[in-house]
Amino acid sequence: MTPDSRRRIPATDALLDLAGQSLDLGAPHVHARVKALINDLQAAARRGEIPGEELPQRLRAALRDPPGLRPVLNATGVVVHTNLGRAPLSEAATEAVVAAAGYVDVELDLATGARAPRGEGARAALLRACPAAEDALIVNNGAAALILAITALAGTGEVIVSRGELVEIGGGFRLPELLTATGATLREVGTTNRTHASDYTAALGPRAAAVLKVHPSNFTVSGFTAAVDLADLAGVARPAGLPLIADLGSGLLHPEPALPEEPDVTAALGAGADLVIVSGDKLLGGPQAGIVLGRADLIARLRSHPLARAVRADKLTFAALEATLNSPQPPPVTRALAASSDQLRARTEALAAQVGGEVVRHEGRVGGGGAPGVALAGWALRLPEHLAARLRTGSPPVLARTHGGACLIDLRCVPPAAEPDLVRAIHAALNAGPGRA
Ligand SMILES: *Cc1c(COP(=O)(O)O)cnc(C)c1O
Repeated sequence: MTPDSRRRIPATDALLDLAGQSLDLGAPHVHARVKALINDLQAAARRGEIPGEELPQRLRAALRDPPGLRPVLNATGVVVHTNLGRAPLSEAATEAVVAAAGYVDVELDLATGARAPRGEGARAALLRACPAAEDALIVNNGAAALILAITALAGTGEVIVSRGELVEIGGGFRLPELLTATGATLREVGTTNRTHASDYTAALGPRAAAVLKVHPSNFTVSGFTAAVDLADLAGVARPAGLPLIADLGSGLLHPEPALPEEPDVTAALGAGADLVIVSGDKLLGGPQAGIVLGRADLIARLRSHPLARAVRADKLTFAALEATLNSPQPPPVTRALAASSDQLRARTEALAAQVGGEVVRHEGRVGGGGAPGVALAGWALRLPEHLAARLRTGSPPVLARTHGGACLIDLRCVPPAAEPDLVRAIHAALNAGPGRA
């Protein structure tokens, strides 16, 4: 930092005057927010991150387009991308969220004017989509659904679970810690690689309160392994009078042909699970939500537990989930999973014709901790590696895959309607000068 560059940082009052040209700064909270924005920009300039003379222009841009979550083009080929918010909503779900942004009949029966159960439309849509379930409950997210189920059904009793299923899910959250935080006791059975039905039977003591099966969705074990399937677990839990809870995580409502190994709710209920828990934004392709499907008497116990109020879903979630389930159009996640290799190749070749680069084979992934071993055959555009950072920091931001010394653009999760934006972003990155970004 030279004295000269410090002199080029405009003073706070000058920048406030500039903001005052487009905004009424009379209200104290507006004034405070703009001042904080100005201070952040000045600090960035002092650190040398932005040239001082660019501050007025940056301030104008920030006032026009306030900082917040920014839409990103997902060119990684990872369908349920955790760092990008997992599932993109379908058009129908997006419209429903916009409509639900105002006042909505989320807890009102318009025909009678009486108060109605919250989110009834989404619950009905789930039951239509999954007739194998007697009832359904929608909460905030999958982890909340699991905590609610364990708290309401097991209390301080023992939850019997295989050691091979005590997984860590994203963000460092470990299932055993989540479960014991409810006050329940974990009764771990079997070993990391092998658990047998007799291990569960041996654990059936006076304190046993529930049998839990977790789908360890984010890794695979191979070699000398054994796990007890749901049908056999039902044979243990049912005679003992214990509820069998299956946490499928990324579960589908029905089998998905592209992912033959992935468990689904209908099959899990058919096999004898009493409650099945899934996340609404993994392979279902809706908003993040915790969905519990299964026996009506057990769901009634979950619904009436005090914790249910603390983990309830908001109106935007209900709106998006209902629209996702009712729309005849498959959500983007389903389309991206089913994208054919030939179509992807044709789209990638058309992109290469506009921006250059080499068309190479590239495997997409399910992501979001789902189907970890599954490769989705496809194609990518191979560009020089240094473009990845420029694309990520461009407008719109494009997240590519960097691998093998290259920047790979996979179109699987890029909607065709966004391709002109992608072409512009790649041109901008290519023209951003010879230096490394
Ligand atoms: C993802 C996942 C969860 C948590 O779901 P969230 O919606 O992220 O809270 C729980 N269990 C399993 C097996 C999962 O894969």
